[in-house]
Amino acid sequence: MRAPSKHAMPMIRLTFHGAAQTVTGSKYLLEADGARILIDCGLFQGLKSLRLKNWAAPPFEPRRIHAVLITHAHIDHTGYLPRLGKQGFRQPVFATAATRDLSRLLLLDAARNQEEDAAYANRKGFSKHRPALPLFDSRDARAVLKHFKTIRRGHWFSPHKPIWVRYHDAGHLLGSNWLEVEIRQGPRPMRLLFSGDVGRYNAPLYHDPRPPTTCDYLICESTYGNRDHPSVNVLDALAEIVNDAIDRGGVMLIASFAVGRAQQLIYLLQVLMHERRIPRIPIYLDSPMAVDATDIFRKYQADHDLSEGELTGRDRVLDGPNLRLIRTSRQSKALNRINGPAVIISSSGMMTGGRILHHLKHRLPDERTTIVLGGFMAAGTRGRHLQEGVKTLRMHGIDVPVRAKVVSLSALSGHADRHELLRWLEPLAAPKKTFITHGEPEAAEAMAQLLRAQRSWSVVVPTLHETHELEVPA
Ligand SMILES: [Zn+2]
Repeated sequence: MRAPSKHAMPMIRLTFHGAAQTVTGSKYLLEADGARILIDCGLFQGLKSLRLKNWAAPPFEPRRIHAVLITHAHIDHTGYLPRLGKQGFRQPVFATAATRDLSRLLLLDAARNQEEDAAYANRKGFSKHRPALPLFDSRDARAVLKHFKTIRRGHWFSPHKPIWVRYHDAGHLLGSNWLEVEIRQGPRPMRLLFSGDVGRYNAPLYHDPRPPTTCDYLICESTYGNRDHPSVNVLDALAEIVNDAIDRGGVMLIASFAVGRAQQLIYLLQVLMHERRIPRIPIYLDSPMAVDATDIFRKYQADHDLSEGELTGRDRVLDGPNLRLIRTSRQSKALNRINGPAVIISSSGMMTGGRILHHLKHRLPDERTTIVLGGFMAAGTRGRHLQEGVKTLRMHGIDVPVRAKVVSLSALSGHADRHELLRWLEPLAAPKKTFITHGEPEAAEAMAQLLRAQRSWSVVVPTLHETHELEVPA
């Protein structure tokens, strides 16, 4: 037996293998007395230097990870799981039941998108890689999905001793959470809080984020750390955009995965149609994984604000005769023949790949088209390029002219803005240290400065792969 000495104290380390000065690739490695846990396992998206990291071997051994904790189903938090599985990871992946169901759809959608993109590149021969390969395929996605274990919010469980975890509603997406983590060793447990992605207050469909609990170390996102969403009524703003799009005589195109922001948009459009503030127009939900989201929302009634009547009544808000699900790529291509007015929702969300590219290629040169940017667009993505007002957009090896009207509707974002993040953190006593993550450098630094100035907190903005040794509480 080891003699109790200062050196025998457990080593607790936290390494930021993703979402450090960027909004993608969320991946934090927590090591405590031999236990190695990953918090989120996301894909890098956007800048090429980041995307290349998805292909390289990770700077840790996947086989030696004891468990993964998933905060929510978005690809920048889950999309590296199939690669982790390919590299030998066979341990449990803990998530809420809704996150497990959504991850199944999202990971298979991402895999299918990559298979379709690689096949298209090989057919047309525009890729530098011969043959172009998917980062992972449906088989890799299915393999890792078998390792999911569902947990209940509000209950402590141990993914690997001495680490204990409790999940709380983050209000960002169906099944989304922030995590309370305890390392139960020594005179009192060390407490960490991982924010995941924090949702908005009074958002359509979702609850407000649950208030945070006391912690020694806080790991907090900062996607909108330097910005506030415009204080517009989202219904008024959307009505104006849709009516303008109809006046222009073209199609309204929005990038989103089939579950999540898509339902917020469908819900808002249906409300506007019921109130006769916009005409009844068809909504096409275009994804290989397009599903009847009503079923998912009914299954997870505790996760959102919709009543049974709103889900299944006469004026139901998530489906209805004007919503069409487009599953096959042939049906998707047939959408090119539609001349509006109509709404097409297609993935991927930041326009990095998938069917949205075919729609953009067809619709961007048409000045009657309206492109709505509804979520955060990371640096280097086509979504960001459009937001920045480029005149041409590169797709499938060609430069497509941008004549369409591009509008941002950040009120549709699932992320708390600067003001809402501060509101969420308001009840929290000063942690020993706060790490600001999941934000581009300016956003992360702005949030760090705010917390130093307003709360006198000790705040660090870690760089990618930076390790911090955490002090065990006395
Ligand atoms: Zn997210």
